[in-house]
Amino acid sequence: MEHDIIIIGGGPSGLSTALHLARDFPYLAPRILILEKAHYPRPKLCAGGLVIDAEVILQRLGLDVSEVPHVDADRIHFDFEAKGLNIRIPKQHALRVIRRDEFDNWLAKNVESRGIEIREGIAVKNIIPNQNGVTVETDQGNLQAQVVVGADGSNGITRRCIFPNVPVHTARVLEVLTPTQPSPKFNVIARRAKPDEAIPSNEEIASGKNTPRNDDQRERVAYFDFFPVLTNIAGYVWDFPTQVNGEAMRCWGIYDTNIHANEKRPQLKEPLAKEMSRLGFDLNNYEIKGYPIRWFSPKNQMSVPRILLVGDAAGADPFLGEGISIALGYGALAAREIGEAFQRNEFSFNRYRRRVVRSALGQALIARWVVAHIVYLFKWKWFQVLVWRILKPVVVLLAWRFVLNWGKKMTSTL
Ligand SMILES: Cc1cc2nc3c(=O)[nH]c(=O)nc-3n(C[C@H](O)[C@H](O)[C@H](O)COP(=O)(O)OP(=O)(O)OC[C@H]3O[C@@H](n4cnc5c(N)ncnc54)[C@H](O)[C@@H]3O)c2cc1C
Repeated sequence: MEHDIIIIGGGPSGLSTALHLARDFPYLAPRILILEKAHYPRPKLCAGGLVIDAEVILQRLGLDVSEVPHVDADRIHFDFEAKGLNIRIPKQHALRVIRRDEFDNWLAKNVESRGIEIREGIAVKNIIPNQNGVTVETDQGNLQAQVVVGADGSNGITRRCIFPNVPVHTARVLEVLTPTQPSPKFNVIARRAKPDEAIPSNEEIASGKNTPRNDDQRERVAYFDFFPVLTNIAGYVWDFPTQVNGEAMRCWGIYDTNIHANEKRPQLKEPLAKEMSRLGFDLNNYEIKGYPIRWFSPKNQMSVPRILLVGDAAGADPFLGEGISIALGYGALAAREIGEAFQRNEFSFNRYRRRVVRSALGQALIARWVVAHIVYLFKWKWFQVLVWRILKPVVVLLAWRFVLNWGKKMTSTL
């Protein structure tokens, strides 16, 4: 067998698994093969918001993510109808926004620099486990491995092969990139950062003065607004600062966990169009892209003998759809599971799910699953106002204690 460990998918979860294996079990590094169907730098639909937990995990791997082009948001706003919570982290940015083509390419180069082989342009078609190993069928022939890691994302083939009939929880997500300024001809009807200020005239917008996007602070703020919850969309609209090829842009989108899939809902793009229009942007002028996110539920299955799942294939954050830090965290847990399996020469992986659920990452995922079911099921206006505008200190405290900040606790639970 040429490679003992085949990782299917070279996104953050697969690359993190490889990096953790190389760090914690260096003798396994030459025995790892990553199969990636695309070629780096490959596009990946994602807003690219990196929370602090992602940076903590990368730092522990000896990686400095500031090498990747980025925009830092100093504040995150969690709003309901344009007013709400304002989160800052003392002495540092609250959210670092990267582009995924650049970030994943950088991560892949770091993986290769540690002696791990990545084969690009190979698509896996089928995975067949047996007693002695796993056959991986690709569009370029078959490969054999002792262990396979399914890191192939929300629609991945690995999960579909090993759990063909298990229902999945999938969020729907739309994303749009725009310039930082709205088109001058479009009427601005409100101003989010300072709602009481006079609405700028079309002439002011055309001259580039006094527009919402000229507010210096806005350039460094990431917004989440939960107003769509009232219409059975179990999620929020986001608006982040970003950059594309060095040019400042905004990344907008809408996330719906689909918890209310059986109820009457507007088209997903309607609340996004409404929010963009409130800030002077016409959604019709921009390209909309969509992609699902498979989210974590405490019942999700994550392994069969010789095969385990990481990242979106195992389940991302159900509350916000945040998955990059989560994918990096799964990589750490999977590497430990695989390394120990090779030491014992026993590959049932029957304790992997327990390892995930008991870890700081797993506890944060469970907390987010609970929060999603509270915030999105109690869809009355008074409740959303209470959570986002009135109970601010309590919400921040609970979020800091149970939802965020899990990266630092990871070592103790590995
Ligand atoms: C619109 C949108 C916005 C998002 N915004 C954010 C955000 O701001 N912050 C955040 O933290 N998360 C965000 N997410 C979630 C985040 O993108 C994912 O959670 C994250 O990419 C999961 O990483 P992964 O490695 O598990 O999977 P992926 O990043 O999907 O990587 C899977 C890899 O597997 C490869 N692959 C797939 N199938 C095969 C195959 N058959 N053979 C070989 N290779 C294969 C793919 O090409 C890909 O490179 C967003 C998601 C969406 C859809």
